[in-house]
Amino acid sequence: MSAKHVTHWINGKPWTGTAERQGDIYDPATGQVTGAVDFATIQEVNDAVAAATEAAKSWGKISLAKRATVLFAFRELVKSHTEEIAALITSEHGKVAADAAGEVARGLEVVEFACGIPHLLKGGFSENVSTGVDSYSIRQPLGVVAGITPFNFPAMVPMWMFPLAIACGNAFILKPSEKDPSASILLARLWAEAGLPDGVFNVVHGDKVAVDALLTHRDIAAVSFVGSTPIARYVYETGTQHGKRVQALGGAKNHMVVLPDADLDLAADAAVSAGYGSAGERCMAISALVAVEPIADPLIEKIKERVAKLTIGPGADRRSEMGPLVTGAHRDKVASYLETGVTQGATLAIDGRTHPVSSDDSAATAGGFWLGPSLLDNVTADNTSYTDEIFGPVLSVVRAQSYDEAVRLVNDSPYGNGVAIFTNDGGAARRFVSEAEIGMVGVNVPIPVPMAYYSFGGWKASLFGDTHMHGTEGVHFYTRGKVVTSRWLDPSHGGVNLGFPVNS
Ligand code: NAD
Repeated sequence: MSAKHVTHWINGKPWTGTAERQGDIYDPATGQVTGAVDFATIQEVNDAVAAATEAAKSWGKISLAKRATVLFAFRELVKSHTEEIAALITSEHGKVAADAAGEVARGLEVVEFACGIPHLLKGGFSENVSTGVDSYSIRQPLGVVAGITPFNFPAMVPMWMFPLAIACGNAFILKPSEKDPSASILLARLWAEAGLPDGVFNVVHGDKVAVDALLTHRDIAAVSFVGSTPIARYVYETGTQHGKRVQALGGAKNHMVVLPDADLDLAADAAVSAGYGSAGERCMAISALVAVEPIADPLIEKIKERVAKLTIGPGADRRSEMGPLVTGAHRDKVASYLETGVTQGATLAIDGRTHPVSSDDSAATAGGFWLGPSLLDNVTADNTSYTDEIFGPVLSVVRAQSYDEAVRLVNDSPYGNGVAIFTNDGGAARRFVSEAEIGMVGVNVPIPVPMAYYSFGGWKASLFGDTHMHGTEGVHFYTRGKVVTSRWLDPSHGGVNLGFPVNS
């Protein structure tokens, strides 16, 4: 099979230049390099911004009905290409096919929400704020906006951003993760097929060079970012210093609190699904399991029974429930927490390094980036397996003695993305919903990702800026408001009056 080559998408077509630098693309299931992705220089980013700036001038003035028509067409195309997009994701990220198709489906929900843009952009109108004077509010596009996205959701996270940005009348430049860049180019082709004018959606690939060029470019009005906390902080500080509106979503350490009265089978199912799904490489994955005693021992036993039955293997194999990790370096880093966790006093109750890999071609998958589901027990709050975002298939069990201790752990965490409580006590759940200092809370739901018509985002070190993604907050982020006060002269307007305008 010939190696693939992924390049930028600028002004409605693939870039035809020769890249100064490229990155390797891997198949995580085999560990083999399968192709190369071009890395943009400042010049290529400038070219994309120039194309977007030109396109934004007319796209921002096009009727809402025409914008919605393009969005509806895009929705149909993404839906009919779901398997193709999912296969690209699996081949570069490693996640299993059903999971990859699931992320396309969740991204599509934002496209569907954006199809309602004529309604979403409706302003207010007040007749006769003063006699013969009316006021109304409108929201207008910003111009050119950029999105910088992580490796773990190469389709869904960009789709948290660009459907609404484009529906609001902006032109968009996407800088996807260099680790799994192909899905973004297929989405660009589908936009073109849907009838989006050239230059409204552009993709530049690359690393810090491309990101910095976007963050400092004077013609970019706003930046949406999703990724790790250190880079989110950097993007927020650099972008705002350059006068941009920035929303930067960072990393996470999501807790699942299990109270003694919880249904332990439900809790064990949820912990395994949310801890090990997508190999733990989800920003809403559960990584800290807070068991309020005396239920830790029976809960861990139930988790062990379930983990033993999990099928780990290539994402393209329909029998696999969990695929490999994204890179060899990331797999090694995640595995290192099993050793340091134990050195720092935890007990290794499940060692994922020994979990078998099921593959029809074991020679091909021998070099894959495998690590099975692992569980550290008796983890304390100072253990690095608890304080760090591991971002892999490792559950850290902290044994708490009371509800209050569990809530303290949740609220002392520097992160505030997601949290879940498992209990049959409605009063305790209600109190927890109120007390948890976290952006997204689940009650007997381990991964409480909001639907597209709500907004997604965390608190504390999981969000820099004050606006969450999609939903009405997304519409606000990609537009700016204007209030108009208007009077049409009639003969009784009253002539010159130097007094302060008051209602009359
Ligand atoms: P990352 O921060 O390494 O990369 C994110 C983006 O930033 C990529 O496009 C990358 O090319 C770019 N980037 C990386 N280093 C940079 C640098 N030094 N300067 C400028 N740009 C740089 O994140 P990742 O490893 O791709 O993704 C995993 C992380 O994303 C995890 O921390 C996860 O929690 C987080 N995440 C958060 C959410 C959320 O909603 N809060 C969602 C998904 C992922």
